[in-house]
Amino acid sequence: MEIITAVKGFKDILPPETDKWRHIEETAHKVFCAFGFREIRIPLLEKTELFCRGIGESTDIVEKEMYTFLDRGEESLTLRPEATASVIRAYLEHNLHAAETVTKLYTIGPMFRRERPQKGRYRQFHQIDTEILGPDDPRTDAELILMLLHFLDKLGLQSLNLEINSLGCAACRPAFREAILSFLRGREEELCGDCRRRIGTNPLRVFDCKVETCAAIISQAPLLPDFLCAGCRDHFEKVQALLRLFDLPFHLNAKMVRGLDYYTRTTFEVTTEFLGAQNAVVGGGRYDHLVRELGGPDISGIGFAIGFERLAAMIPEADADALPQGPLLFIATLGEAALGKAFFLCNGLRMKGIRVEMDHAGRSLKSQMKRADKLRSAYTLILGEREIAENKALLRNMLSSTQTEVGLDSLEETITELVR
Ligand code: AMP
Repeated sequence: MEIITAVKGFKDILPPETDKWRHIEETAHKVFCAFGFREIRIPLLEKTELFCRGIGESTDIVEKEMYTFLDRGEESLTLRPEATASVIRAYLEHNLHAAETVTKLYTIGPMFRRERPQKGRYRQFHQIDTEILGPDDPRTDAELILMLLHFLDKLGLQSLNLEINSLGCAACRPAFREAILSFLRGREEELCGDCRRRIGTNPLRVFDCKVETCAAIISQAPLLPDFLCAGCRDHFEKVQALLRLFDLPFHLNAKMVRGLDYYTRTTFEVTTEFLGAQNAVVGGGRYDHLVRELGGPDISGIGFAIGFERLAAMIPEADADALPQGPLLFIATLGEAALGKAFFLCNGLRMKGIRVEMDHAGRSLKSQMKRADKLRSAYTLILGEREIAENKALLRNMLSSTQTEVGLDSLEETITELVR
């Protein structure tokens, strides 16, 4: 019978890759905690309306990429394509804003977008998402970016490129929109079908067009930073000054508009040459109207989303090797009595949190030793009839190939000593 495979674009994460994932998650918990963030866990499924209102009807995500279906009760539901809208939904639903003036939240989990699967792009992928809800002070922007870069640094990542831009606000964006619209209308004939459609729906999105002829035209288009109002310019300059104060190198990228409608003012991306075509590891930015658009009070926010798969692909192999892999002890057995005794010893050590392995099938000593080697066990203990009779056995250090005699009654203490 044929085996059933996973859905296209949905990927299993297998060991030892999962060790790396846990290492990343643990680093995130530690770093984010130091910056005052608390974890929030939100459902994978939301009412479709949340994303239409939150992300914007004319974005690629909402137009073509969402997994939306009618459930049996005829309600339109969607597998979340990103986390920000859900985090804010929960923030408003549980009145978190009433409890404190600044709320710092993060969540780690899968997102779903029906994009064309390729290396670095999946239909179920994972994000580490953070949000600061509260003040719109430039220091908040700098704090979030500082935390992000510190986190990436803790993971040993190098050759990263931080790009920042300001998308302005409700006061200055309309003038830019007019300027870009009149520019695009003047060159409409030369644009691709998608960009022509964008003129009527979401002209900013033309900056993301990958068609070469469009890119050449758009390289001459007016740029958003030239249209910023005094408030936005001042905000953006302060963010940059703070990044410089902390010696964080960045590039200004006036063409970075990001794929979601809700961004205002500071937006940023972290890219790397290491990943080839899918070079964006992190995307983020400020959203000054999203909370209100989702029915809440006038509270501003800023956040980022890190692509977990892409991040994991960049972790240097040496670091991944340094992660704990093998068991501390492998107990090899000879005979039925030894199997029983080993099972008992194994259980005692495991109860103490020590990783111990054994073979239940009573295979040859040679094949058990091979398995201990393959598992990269630090120590092995060989238990046969004689060892049980004498109540002692040889503990072999697999790295140094040295052996010491240990009493079986004091095995737990001896092994516990080793992990001190
Ligand atoms: P976005 O929510 O689109 O700003 O994306 C934030 C980050 O999530 C990107 O920089 C990528 O690292 C990652 N990402 C977005 N879409 C995908 C995808 N389909 N597969 C894998 N990673 C993705």
